[in-house]
This record gives sequence, C-alpha cells and structure tokens, in this order.
Amino acid sequence: MRILLVDPGRTALKIVTRLLEAGDHEVRGFTDEMEALDYLGRDSEVDALLTSVELGRMSGLELCWQARIVTGDRRPLYIIVMSSNYERGHLIEALDSGADDFIGKPPVVEELYARLRAASRVVGMQRDLIRLASTDPLTGSLNRRAFFRLAGEACERAATGPLPLAAVMMDIDHFKKINDVYGHDVGDLVLRGVAEQAQKVDGSVFGRLGGEEFAMMLEGRNAQQGLVVADGLRVLMTQLSFPSSKGDVSLTCSFGVTEYHPGDAIDLMLKRADVALYEAKTGGRNRVIVSEDLDAVERPGGIIRGGSRSGDIEAAAE
Ligand code: GH3
Ligand code: MG
Ligand code: MG
Repeated sequence: MRILLVDPGRTALKIVTRLLEAGDHEVRGFTDEMEALDYLGRDSEVDALLTSVELGRMSGLELCWQARIVTGDRRPLYIIVMSSNYERGHLIEALDSGADDFIGKPPVVEELYARLRAASRVVGMQRDLIRLASTDPLTGSLNRRAFFRLAGEACERAATGPLPLAAVMMDIDHFKKINDVYGHDVGDLVLRGVAEQAQKVDGSVFGRLGGEEFAMMLEGRNAQQGLVVADGLRVLMTQLSFPSSKGDVSLTCSFGVTEYHPGDAIDLMLKRADVALYEAKTGGRNRVIVSEDLDAVERPGGIIRGGSRSGDIEAAAE
C-alpha cells in the first residue's frame, strides 16, 4: 500500500518509515500536516494515512477530518491514528473524527502489519465498488452517472478558469439494423469497438450515456477544435470492421458538438450538442454538426461560419 505517514518527530518518522518499508509498503513521510494534506490532494494513489494524534499546528483528529474532506467519497482512504497515550476517550474521539483504526505509539510491528493487512482488504474492496459503480460493464467506459459527474466538474472549471471546453455527442447510425441483421452479440462487439476507439482520445472525459449513445468532454478545446476531434473519430469509425458469421460489419456515426458558454451547466451543454446531433441525423448521418453554427444560421441576419461541418473539412482537404 502507499501510506501517508505524518509525525512531527523526525526520529519517530524515520523509525516507522523503516518498519513500513520492511513490510513492503511505499511511504510518503511528513512532519508537517499541512504539507501532508497538500500531498494527499495531489496523489490519488495514497491508500492509507497513518498519523500521530499529537501534531504541530492541528491535532491528528483535525487531520482526520481534513483528510476526509480532501478525499471525498470517491477515493478510499484508510486512516489509522497512533497515540502513545492509549486512552478509551482518545480512541472514541479518533473514530468519531473519521479514523478507521487506532494503534499505540510506537506501534508493535506485527500488530501494525496485521492492521495494515486489514486496511488493504478494505481499501481493495472500496476501490472495486467505486470502479463498478462508475463503469459501464459492456464497454468499460464511464457510465452515465459517472460521466455526468466528471463532465459537470469540467464545466465548473470552464466557468472559473481561462480554458475553453467542448462537448461532443456521438451516436451510432442505424444501430438497430446491425442488431437485427447480425444479432445482438455482434451489436455488443460493435459497441465495445466504437468505445475502444473513442477512449483513445487524449485528455477527454468519455462515457456511454445509454444504448449506442456516447458523450465526450474536451477540456482546453473550443467548438472548432471539438469538431476536428469529432471528425477524426467519424472517419476512424467508418474504417472499423467487425467479423461475423454473416460477413464483416461496418458502421458510421453521427456527432453533435458544442462549446462552453458563460452561465452554462452541463445539462445545457449536452442539450445543445444533442440538438446538433439530431441535425446530423436528419442531415443524412455520418457527419459532425457544430451547435454554434446552427445558432448562426438561425439568428436573423446571422452569419454562417464556414469550415464547420465535417463535409466542409473533407472539401477543404481535397
Ligand atoms: P439512428 O441512426 O437514428 O440513431 O438509428 P438507430 O437504429 O441507431 O437508433 P435506435 O434508437 O432506433 O436503436 C438503437 C438500438 O440500440 C435499439 C436497442 O435495441 C439497441 N441497444 C441498446 N443497448 C444495446 C446494447 O447494450 N447492446 C446491443 N447489442 N444493442 C443495444
Ligand atoms: Mg443510433
Ligand atoms: Mg440513439
């Protein structure tokens, strides 16, 4: 396990670090609890926090509270409080402050190892549960709930930061026909293959919203850059081929793209991308439509910005 160890005494820190390392644990040691908290926020691979109850600026119990705030409910963290003053009152206070366990200080080696084995079992199960609750079992991509959570967070960053944000909705064309002609199993194979390609897009949050509909958030990219990504995917999808007993299956996908506008919420963004996707469907499928260009067309006296439909990209490339 990766263990964040906090103890104000350098000697104690050294001794416990050696014990933990001898037990095959990775240790990140801190004498300062604020630095430890800062580190915890940055390293999501920390499995456990082992802290002395007596610290400098804040107590070990306050550190428990703060550590729970930093990790939230989406990151497992097993907290063990160490105290040289083993009193029942301390133990109760520690558990009520968010600790999972309590151990004497200095810790007895075998007891420490046994408690860490228990911690490892709990953290492992928690990680599995978090993964299962946020993953679509068929494609391995984020499920709808997890996608909306992460996409919503990206939206909040776009609201407070300088970077643009694009949203892309993707839907397989005539997927029902693939199921009808080749069977549901082949349909599943296609869904997996399509998701596998889309998951390769760097720096994106990608999820399956349901059925054969997927969505992607692209931080740092505006609608036009989103269009380029979506159109790359569109071409890639036309090149896929899946074997079946009735011959190879190929497919196309349609895309709707939009970008973050001040005051947007994630639902609003995806709604706009969905309207653009609908236009892509009614316009003939196998294409990308940018929502902002639809707005320009619809606005009285609006300007139709060029180079925004996937067909235009192809035309420009020819
Ligand atoms: P369009 O081009 O307008 O998007 O047409 P479509 O046929 O792709 O869309 P429609 O919504 O009519 O059909 C979607 C189909 O996807 C219907 C449903 O049975 C199928 N589907 C949904 N989830 C799964 C799944 O997990 N596996 C398989 N194989 N099929 C699924
Ligand atoms: Mg479809
Ligand atoms: Mg659909």
